[in-house]
Amino acid sequence: MAFQYILDGIYNEVIQIENTGKVADYIPELAKIDANKYGIALVDKYQNVFTKGEALEKFSIQSISKVITTSLIFSKIGNDLWERVGYEPSGNSFNSLVQLENENGIPRNPFINAGALVIADLMLEHFENPKAFLLDFVRELTENPNINYNENVAQSEKAFGYRNAALVNFIKSFSNIKNEPEAVLDFYYHQCSIEMSCVDLGKCFQVFANNGVIPKSDKKFLSTSKCKRMNALMQMCGFYDQAGEFTFKVGLPGKSGVGGGVVAVFPNHYTVAVWSPKLNKKGNSFYGLETLERLTTETSLSIF
Ligand code: GLN
Repeated sequence: MAFQYILDGIYNEVIQIENTGKVADYIPELAKIDANKYGIALVDKYQNVFTKGEALEKFSIQSISKVITTSLIFSKIGNDLWERVGYEPSGNSFNSLVQLENENGIPRNPFINAGALVIADLMLEHFENPKAFLLDFVRELTENPNINYNENVAQSEKAFGYRNAALVNFIKSFSNIKNEPEAVLDFYYHQCSIEMSCVDLGKCFQVFANNGVIPKSDKKFLSTSKCKRMNALMQMCGFYDQAGEFTFKVGLPGKSGVGGGVVAVFPNHYTVAVWSPKLNKKGNSFYGLETLERLTTETSLSIF
């Protein structure tokens, strides 16, 4: 497949579209980003990397980190995970509180904030030094030892994180958070502050395209069944209340973050990452979705 030619064409088409999105400003540090950044990276099954635009520039991965922490906990505790968090799409915004009361503090899935906070709690429970462990793991997947937390972004989110604080306290009132809310929030804000480029992100998600095997080392990180389930979660829940539309238009499992990143996985074929900070009303990158819809339509390479 002539991926370079395809990415060049899509990029040139998409930059002509008026971008009606807006940069997330509820985390003040994120509002400082140049709104016009736009990069794409595609990694094929032979680990060839194709790029266009600002594909090597780092950005805040935000909620994309939820896939990584969930996979770490799933690999560690297996199906016991589903006693703490569900696997159904929420149909609500990423930071919604409304479903928790009727569901006894069991979040609908691990990719809405409520679920990711329970996963963060599990990370504190199951790993001795979860921050260092997560960073090492991300460095292994990206093959990039320079991946780091952005302390300014983590602190900026902490300073204004009233909603996440409400979520974690509310869930704790149902006893589904075991650690101190402060500690859970601190870990969560750090995982969201990880910075990567599109190339890093494409490489990072290769493990989900490769039946749970880390391509570089051939290490089986997730069983084939667990890998299937991670991709299923991304398909159903990766874009919150736009997950249906993403499936409808793009047809791949994927995940977005409010830093403007979007990553998608075509099992046994490729991973693709797009970064463009202006977000649509659902909190997903406007150009990110435009790019991926064109990619799967023009190449006919979607899981459907
Ligand atoms: N850190 C962000 C938050 O909790 C992550 C949200 C996102 O990327 N959708 O609000």
